[in-house]
Amino acid sequence: MINSARHEAEPVATKVRVYSRPEHNISRSQISENALKVLYKLQKEGFDAYLVGGCVRDLLLGREPKDFDVVTNADPEQIRKVFRNSRLIGRRFRLAHVHFGREVIEVATFRGAGEEQNDKQVLNKEGRLLRDNVYGSIEEDVWRRDFTVNALYYNIKDFSVVDFVGGMADHKAATLRLIGDPETRFREDPVRMLRAVRFAVKLGFKLHPDCEKAMHKAAELLSSIPSARLYDEALKLFLSGYALQTFEMLRHYGLFQVLFPATENCLSMEENGFPRLLLIKALENSDNRIADGKTVTAYFLFAAFLWEPVQMRAKEKMARGMVEFMAYQDAANEVISMQIKSTALPRHITLAMREVWSLQPKFNACIGSKPSRLITHPRFRAAYDFLLLRAGTGGAEPELAQWWTKYQDASENEQRKMTQPSRKAQGSKSGRKRSYRGKVKDSAAGNEI
Ligand code: ATP
Ligand code: MG
Repeated sequence: MINSARHEAEPVATKVRVYSRPEHNISRSQISENALKVLYKLQKEGFDAYLVGGCVRDLLLGREPKDFDVVTNADPEQIRKVFRNSRLIGRRFRLAHVHFGREVIEVATFRGAGEEQNDKQVLNKEGRLLRDNVYGSIEEDVWRRDFTVNALYYNIKDFSVVDFVGGMADHKAATLRLIGDPETRFREDPVRMLRAVRFAVKLGFKLHPDCEKAMHKAAELLSSIPSARLYDEALKLFLSGYALQTFEMLRHYGLFQVLFPATENCLSMEENGFPRLLLIKALENSDNRIADGKTVTAYFLFAAFLWEPVQMRAKEKMARGMVEFMAYQDAANEVISMQIKSTALPRHITLAMREVWSLQPKFNACIGSKPSRLITHPRFRAAYDFLLLRAGTGGAEPELAQWWTKYQDASENEQRKMTQPSRKAQGSKSGRKRSYRGKVKDSAAGNEI
């Protein structure tokens, strides 16, 4: 480990442009009441207080911010004393969470760049920032931020927007530009590359050419990031409502392979085949659900991302003589173990994924009491949605999916009729499984994973 120097670019902002209230469109009526309370209270206690980051960026676009972040010159202890409803959190950098029922306003002290040789800011040998807990002034704080459009400060004192880095101009030009030297900034924290993709897609902004160039060079650095953090980022990336575009852009910059190496492997082998189709359909569906105000689940998306690698491995194992059930179980184990090295999926997620996968072959049994049992399985709905996905992309017979759609809507009486063995099939074992009168296409047929 080496102690860091300050940023290669200016460590402290020297130029400042203040946009007075008539020069911008942020109105207090768009700001959460609780955030306003926090800002006013800090001001009343004699501290400086600003909104900063994504909320200012989103307010300028007329969008409703996801959350409101406040920065101040009060230190964490002082913040805690001002707000009885606050808790200090964070090891790497201490900050306060002020609680108002379900809403939490994050209040941070300005971060400093730190003196050269100081031991509070630590980089590893690749230049990644490991520890960063120096308090500073607003002019220093601005250099700790990633993109210029994320470094605009809304001052509660006079309702102005303070801009040290040309963020307002970039905002108007819909450009994501890193503050300082792009390569150094990506090196310090490679997750900024994922943030670049997330914001570009979500805001419809373009990447500044310097940022883009640096990203192509720095993509592989992402693999040094702890898998728990990459999992969190993956969730933000794919549950944002723009999963499909995000996927395409991550692939373009060579970032997807770091997050999903096994999936990338399959995709590069069969670019236009159905592995890609199933995934694309899953991402599209998930975006549509979010647009309709419905919920999406992480395990379903991860199950879709990893279905093809599981199938590919299972087929290889079967070709070497392993029985299908074992082959699929082994393949699922292998793919999950590999995936958690890049994104640390929690156990409840991997369990749910396995359930979705292992219920797939059970859809083939449409005779007798099995369907009525399957339909009560807690994971039935997700597994059925997964079946629809497979059926829509050539991985299962569409008739099978239709049978299950009809079965769910049918009355009890009709359901009973639907699950009676047909005359021809009676007595024949294979007829039992195929009673929906179709064939099962992929090799998960008839076996549990
Ligand atoms: P979102 O809409 O997703 O909340 P955001 O920009 O608010 O977007 P946060 O993760 O909430 O993102 O971070 C708040 C602010 O903190 C950012 O706008 C940016 O100024 C700064 N920041 C966050 N993560 C980083 C990072 N990895 N490197 C530098 N600055 C960062
Ligand atoms: Mg935010």
